[in-house]
Amino acid sequence: MPDLPPPSLRLKLDRAALTANWRALDALSGDASAGAAVKADGYGLGAGTVAKTLQQAGACDFFIAHWSEAPDIVHYVDPARISVLHGPIRSEDADYARGLGIKPVINSIEQARRWLDGGGGRCDLMVDTGINRLGVAPQDLGDSAIAALEVDILMSHLASADEDSPLNALQLERFRDVCAVVPAQRRSLANSAGIALGRDYAFQLTRPGLSLYGGVPRNELTDDIRQVAFPQAAVIQVRDLSPGDSVGYNATFIAPRAMRAATVSLGYADGFLRCRGPASALRFGEAALPLLGKVSMDMVVVDLTAAPQVGEGDWLDVPFSLPEIARSCGMSQYELLTTLGRRFRR
Ligand SMILES: *Cc1c(COP(=O)(O)O)cnc(C)c1O
Repeated sequence: MPDLPPPSLRLKLDRAALTANWRALDALSGDASAGAAVKADGYGLGAGTVAKTLQQAGACDFFIAHWSEAPDIVHYVDPARISVLHGPIRSEDADYARGLGIKPVINSIEQARRWLDGGGGRCDLMVDTGINRLGVAPQDLGDSAIAALEVDILMSHLASADEDSPLNALQLERFRDVCAVVPAQRRSLANSAGIALGRDYAFQLTRPGLSLYGGVPRNELTDDIRQVAFPQAAVIQVRDLSPGDSVGYNATFIAPRAMRAATVSLGYADGFLRCRGPASALRFGEAALPLLGKVSMDMVVVDLTAAPQVGEGDWLDVPFSLPEIARSCGMSQYELLTTLGRRFRR
């Protein structure tokens, strides 16, 4: 097989910004240490690179969701500090955890039994304090299987930390009650937004994800968090439109005058969903290049009026300031990150 030619989509990762974001979140965590959620391929940015960078920044504890995500990071971080949030749902999962030396997060009495049946050992424990998604109910904590666990991180997860909701204080209070009765090495409640709720929420370990990658779930974090991901797409073709020419599916844009346009290698299959058009723009340096017509699967067309010198193969910047884009297109900052397609060279 010949070597692949250069890609027409690339995702630049600002590793200095990623490092700075972790350090800021670690500092905001006070006496607690910040870990790092690197599930979903490091929120779409590439789990291996992200984990390696964060490990060098000083992060020690890493959280993934699936067992299948472990191989991506296990060479870069201490396996004993990797937690698998979904826990052992089959006996093979428990065997895999032991084989690799990583920790399951135990989410139910059934998972606790499954872990103990295979021989037990160090694990984490998720307690549900109000999100009702994963986690042992507080009233079940007296169960003998739970009591037999050797718990490193005792954790719970906030449902509404990105809002000023009474549920935050209620979950904090419930988690404190849990901490009083469950022995554990360390305790952890806060995600990115939870860190911004204050030191009371930090315990010994925080678990930021989104804000490591440039997401700002609460305004308090605005000044501390930098953009990390910078997507770019190449121009495939340049064309001149005559007045009255239509562009794209369903001819939703009609050129009002003669204009130059570029067809760009970026479409909804790359995570650039239709909600990003028609009010949005790509950029060439300082020049804004408005989208013309609908986003296709593999292409968009942009107006080159502000940068007529752009030609085939030139790179255009895809605006990716997460809080701003999320607000303007109605997607969550999490979705913007995790839908970045596989065709981006990371
Ligand atoms: C995803 C996740 C996190 C990280 O949350 P962010 O909102 O991305 O900071 C922390 N803890 C658990 C249990 C998670 O599932």
